[in-house]
Amino acid sequence: MIYLDNASTTKPCPEAVSAVIDAVTDNFGNPSSLHRAGLNAQLAVDKARKIIAGSIGADVGEIYFTSGATESNNLALRGVMGAYGKRKNKIVVSAVEHASIEETVSALEKQGFEVVRISPREDGQFYAEDFINACDEKTCIISMMLVNNETGHILPVGETFKAVKKRYPEIVTHCDCVQGYMKLPVNVRTLNTDMLSLSGHKIHAVKGIGALYIKKGIRVVPTVTGGHQEKGIRSGTESVPLISAFGSAVEKYNLTIKERYEKVTGLKKHLLDRLSEIDGVSVNSPENASPYVVNISAGRRSEIMLHFMEQKEIYISSGSACSKGQQSGVLQQFGITRKNADSALRISMTAETTTQEIDIFAETLREGIEKIRG
Ligand code: PMP
Repeated sequence: MIYLDNASTTKPCPEAVSAVIDAVTDNFGNPSSLHRAGLNAQLAVDKARKIIAGSIGADVGEIYFTSGATESNNLALRGVMGAYGKRKNKIVVSAVEHASIEETVSALEKQGFEVVRISPREDGQFYAEDFINACDEKTCIISMMLVNNETGHILPVGETFKAVKKRYPEIVTHCDCVQGYMKLPVNVRTLNTDMLSLSGHKIHAVKGIGALYIKKGIRVVPTVTGGHQEKGIRSGTESVPLISAFGSAVEKYNLTIKERYEKVTGLKKHLLDRLSEIDGVSVNSPENASPYVVNISAGRRSEIMLHFMEQKEIYISSGSACSKGQQSGVLQQFGITRKNADSALRISMTAETTTQEIDIFAETLREGIEKIRG
């Protein structure tokens, strides 16, 4: 199998798997229990929290575990609007956010909040100025993703949030960092962000675990209430196995961000070289995108090409896998024509991807273009 769909999910690393096994066999206590089994479980959660906090330059007390980035994004937006939304009713977001942001702001819009969506300019790039100009005294929160999951575009989050904070210090800043975490250097101070969403399964941990960084002092109304775990911000017995796996994966991959980035940059170059030899293939991701995500159009309907690849045990995605083949409109936002969006394919690599795998993919793509009618 050639797995080139790592923006959808990644294979859990052995460290994450053994962390899960340990926590479901030996360390199975409830962190809230007052006996030793509970304490040991609590220690495992504390350890993971410390690793994750350290990896983004946060304090341990600023990390809250959730079930994944979808929940983190919901908690950030709904939580902040719940806390401050009576006085300030405006939300500013980019127009290319993941559904867990877009659908949430749409729901808040229906409740009466004002939502402003900022599109990229004609050159397909975002400019800090456009976000700043949309902010005003009524704005409660601004949310921007660091790396777009469909194209790899890197948004100017740090620069935008810095300028926003300078002019409107009270606006809460939030960043969906799912596709940037453990791939680019991420630091909450450099990003000037008050909140940051992370997901475990995109970084070789496991599904069902995520985190939200909430800067000390930012008020958030919980979206899940109950037994007051996670300081009352996110109730529910902590999933020690998943949290431990998340911590183990971060501990491992945090050491090699730069080396892996360079390796994947080389792989992207190799991929683009091979694609340039095939007629009818165009590249939708910009040159300055994250190398981990490459979006192309091959002139054949995405789903048909995807299944052609699947028969050869090559796994890629059409646009965003989260939308199950349904177009999210993100590609059009980036100026990609409807026709090219219909044939868009997303190749998302890891540092373990090999040039041989890329060669096989490129050859299969060429074969697919020949065999599938345009
Ligand atoms: N944001 C982005 C940018 C994503 O790519 C994803 C996953 N597709 C999510 C949020 C949601 O993450 P999770 O699967 O952990 O809910």
